[in-house]
Amino acid sequence: MALANILSEMPDLLERTLDEHTADSEGYCRECRDASGVSATWPCVTRELAEQARSMNGPGTGTVAGRRRARDLDGARGSRHRSA
Ligand SMILES: [Zn+2]
Repeated sequence: MALANILSEMPDLLERTLDEHTADSEGYCRECRDASGVSATWPCVTRELAEQARSMNGPGTGTVAGRRRARDLDGARGSRHRSA
């Protein structure tokens, strides 16, 4: 959970993780392969973590700018309420 939190704050790393940890034709992760050539079944733990991080962000709220925009909208609503 903490790791997913960290990932959700690093969109670049999150994108790369989602990009790299994909299934091969056998249904194993392309990235999670140990020295002996054994792959983890996909979705691997890393992939599930990245998916979790992405769902925490949600569309349009994954960036600092997105969060700032949401705050501005709240502020606008508040001032309109006061003047009305
Ligand atoms: Zn993987």
